[in-house]
Amino acid sequence: MTMIDPKAVLKKITPTPYKKNELSSEEKKKKIASLFTEIMDTLGLDLDDDSLRETPMRVAKMYVDEVFYGLDAVNFPKITLVENKFDYDHAVMEVNIVTNSHCEHHFVPIIGKTHIAYIPGKKVLGLSKLNRIVDYFAKRPQIQERLTLQIHQALVNILETENVAVVTDAMHACVKTRGIKDVTSMTRTSKLSGVFINESTHRHEFMNAIPKVHEVVY
Ligand SMILES: [Zn+2]
Repeated sequence: MTMIDPKAVLKKITPTPYKKNELSSEEKKKKIASLFTEIMDTLGLDLDDDSLRETPMRVAKMYVDEVFYGLDAVNFPKITLVENKFDYDHAVMEVNIVTNSHCEHHFVPIIGKTHIAYIPGKKVLGLSKLNRIVDYFAKRPQIQERLTLQIHQALVNILETENVAVVTDAMHACVKTRGIKDVTSMTRTSKLSGVFINESTHRHEFMNAIPKVHEVVY
């Protein structure tokens, strides 16, 4: 079994614009709660109301512990690889991986699914690790293009193969509920490399296995 060093993987991926500060998680929550109190107060909301009173701390905890936990490298999933002793040489595919993120322009949800295929070289990854890698990068303020690239680059590095395909289908709350208010459009982003780039049986097998973009169920 090989243990993956998260720092080595994260060094090689397209970075999220991020400047590490010295605040602990608890300090971040306190500060965000206080700043969110100001936002609500500025909007004229009555923070003495029993339904609103705890909202600033709820939002702070949600940002730090849940929806943006992927900003912190220490939360990168623990990943071990096993030897591909059985010489499995066809595609391993996992489709419809829940991909719930937040758009970095409006801080509202991106709700989607990611589809992954890879052809193992010397190493094989536990299937649930694909879900965990997707979730880690999704739990950052994101744009869908970068999210897809980060997942792809992490897998190329971890699996030590270019034979990786990643497709993300998502709907953006910022497109649905504000601005253009388009409730039907969906967005697909993809990054395919190695044997998946060219017209090949592997590419066809993958593209046929994943849902059509309008068939994705959210
Ligand atoms: Zn947005």
